[in-house]
Amino acid sequence: MGSVGDECSIKVICRIRPLNPSEERAGSKFVLKFPTDDSISVGNRVFVYDKVLKPNVTQEAVYNVAAKPIVADVLSGYNGTIFAYGQTSSGKTHTMEGILGNSDMHGIIPRIVQDIFNYIYGMDENLEFHIKVSYFEIYMDKIRDLLDVSKTNLSVHEDKDKATYVKGATERFVSSPEEVMEAIDDGKANRHVAVTNMNEHSSRSHSVFLINVKQEHLENQKKLNGKLYLVDLAGSEKVSKTGAEGAVLDEAKNINRSLSALGNVISALAEGNRGHVPYRDSKLTRILQESLGGNARTTIVICASPASYNEAETKSTLLFGQRAK
Ligand code: ADP
Ligand code: MG
Repeated sequence: MGSVGDECSIKVICRIRPLNPSEERAGSKFVLKFPTDDSISVGNRVFVYDKVLKPNVTQEAVYNVAAKPIVADVLSGYNGTIFAYGQTSSGKTHTMEGILGNSDMHGIIPRIVQDIFNYIYGMDENLEFHIKVSYFEIYMDKIRDLLDVSKTNLSVHEDKDKATYVKGATERFVSSPEEVMEAIDDGKANRHVAVTNMNEHSSRSHSVFLINVKQEHLENQKKLNGKLYLVDLAGSEKVSKTGAEGAVLDEAKNINRSLSALGNVISALAEGNRGHVPYRDSKLTRILQESLGGNARTTIVICASPASYNEAETKSTLLFGQRAK
């Protein structure tokens, strides 16, 4: 754990995907070793996390480790964030979303949605639930509403309790897992609209899905409100590898800046440095402010390739994860 106790809880989970066919064809070697359940080594360097998930681990097992505890907390009124960090093709979207339409291959998000509704269906009639979702992407430090493409540059505000929120963002009320998945489909379709190459685009923008669960007990009026942010980050690869210039270089610099702002916030929180958490350095950390640190639960899933070809990027990802410890 980055920090202990109820005050601030950051968990870091490392997930290694299998070698992919093109890495195998290129003769790339599997360069990682797993000394224990919570450590991983590359060369002579060992990294320790809350848990290390090997290539053969199922989507269900990933969910149980990375998300299930946070879902329980959100249903108890806490805020939470789960994000996937790693270079492009390291398995971030596979981890967060998985293959929709194949329930064994569902990632964290569809499983969370199912679990939240299973919980609700099992509760007594005296509890009233209001669930709403929002869906954004952050590209070049601009927040675009994926549930309403006319909103292309939303801003982050603070309410009277100093909680941050995205002003004017679409909040869609949902009453079944199917309606949540429909919202995700709609948002993804909107991501397509502006771009020609979906994969390229998704690797250069952060995708932020928010589930807000409000509950009210009709007898004693007791209220709970939990927000869960599910973030599929832009690819963390270094620019030099692609020899980028012009607009692509600007994009890359922007991504580097926002990912390092996130790293700085995480490491300030992990050090218990609560007075000086630099949330204001990026839109992403501003949005996540009330769901990172404080009473919020945070899980970072660092995703990496095991291939020798990607060794430098994998090391840099493993180091990012280390900053939260
Ligand atoms: P990213 O979102 O980080 O760019 P993806 O999640 O799209 O990467 O993964 C790249 C490719 O590798 C996809 O085809 C995906 O299905 C596959 N993949 C990623 N992680 C795994 C895994 N753990 N097991 C099997 N295939 C995976
Ligand atoms: Mg992706």
